[in-house]
Amino acid sequence: MTNHAQLLDKYAELTVKSGLNVRKGQQVLITAPLEAVDLVRLITHHAYKVGASLVTCLYSDEKTSLMRYVDGDKEAFDAAPAWLFGGMAEAFRDGNCARLGIIGEDPSLLSGQDIDKVSRANRARSAAYKPVVEQITGFATNWCVISAATPSHAKSVFPHMSEKDALAALWTAIFKCTRADQPDPVHAWELHTKALHKRTGILNAKRYSALAYKGPGTDFTLGLVDDHIWMGGASVAKNGILCNPNIPSEEVFTMPHRERVDGTVRSTKPLSYQGTFIDGIEVTFEKGRIVKGTASKGAEVFKKMIETDEGAARLGEVALVPHSSPISASGIVFNETLYDENAASHIAVGQAYSQNMKDTSILSADEKLKRGMNTSLIHVDWMIGSGALDVDGVFKDGKREPLMRKGEWVD
Ligand code: ZN
Ligand code: ZN
Repeated sequence: MTNHAQLLDKYAELTVKSGLNVRKGQQVLITAPLEAVDLVRLITHHAYKVGASLVTCLYSDEKTSLMRYVDGDKEAFDAAPAWLFGGMAEAFRDGNCARLGIIGEDPSLLSGQDIDKVSRANRARSAAYKPVVEQITGFATNWCVISAATPSHAKSVFPHMSEKDALAALWTAIFKCTRADQPDPVHAWELHTKALHKRTGILNAKRYSALAYKGPGTDFTLGLVDDHIWMGGASVAKNGILCNPNIPSEEVFTMPHRERVDGTVRSTKPLSYQGTFIDGIEVTFEKGRIVKGTASKGAEVFKKMIETDEGAARLGEVALVPHSSPISASGIVFNETLYDENAASHIAVGQAYSQNMKDTSILSADEKLKRGMNTSLIHVDWMIGSGALDVDGVFKDGKREPLMRKGEWVD
């Protein structure tokens, strides 16, 4: 076996054992780009070896996706396969089918296309996909998202390399950031999870009322919901299975209060949003809502994004990541949120994760809203952390203490 084949096999095993933690008799549903077929085959092999009852993979293909924008009926961009997504939601509902998402698309696949078509297609897709998002964010089943290096994505990360070299360089970075290149990746993830759980334990004991941020172009206060829960690393899904929803993951995250965010924020990394790039985001929040927003690149797409619905201009997630995280240390901008969000502290507009607030399973939708939980068709993370960001924890009585200085944990 070549070195690459060995690493790919270890990565596949890590995904099945630490990412999904597939149980005997469970089904597995994978979505993946065509170019990830070698990885999908290895994952399928390892899933059956641990007792999966059935592995199903739905492949996507960039060239086929693009044809819609070039040749498709202009009137038909509000169509989405609701029947497919309904079936997926059904599969996850009882926790008998694990969910693996493999990403790796060209981040600027749709950047040359008509913005109106793109935003209508995104909107229709988000609406149809909502039942799936509800099962996933509600942790009905064990799930995991990983990345595969594909030629188009690799070229976007390393534009000056040949396609072959770019692909090799991106795989090397993926193996390193996911710890797949360590002697025992599964054990490495156990240790990593322990460290993240220690951090969430400290933060949960603090009961901060808000976080206060200061950095270049950033000066804002972000209120947390009263019953917030900090999470990070492995989580137990409702079917009782411990899984790592993101590989890699370096963040600890919780729920902002949808009405208690005030001040200005500047993004620190470009954001790839459904086939287009958004960079240089600057927004002003008032009472939790974005009242002013610009972007130096992709401003039109950004504007449409936060206009998706009422919750799209409010926050659903806040995450802290030390500036020294291995992904940040790699110095690579991956043009992919899964990696880039784990390189820097971030916030997300849109849907909140219900497990970030106590008792959400017994609260009515009205009650959750009243307590500050945001809902939306979208959930989009964008990076605000850097080596120049300071964060304070603010207590209920207004007293505050340093939490992060120059992007690093204070303790
Ligand atoms: Zn996050
Ligand atoms: Zn997020």
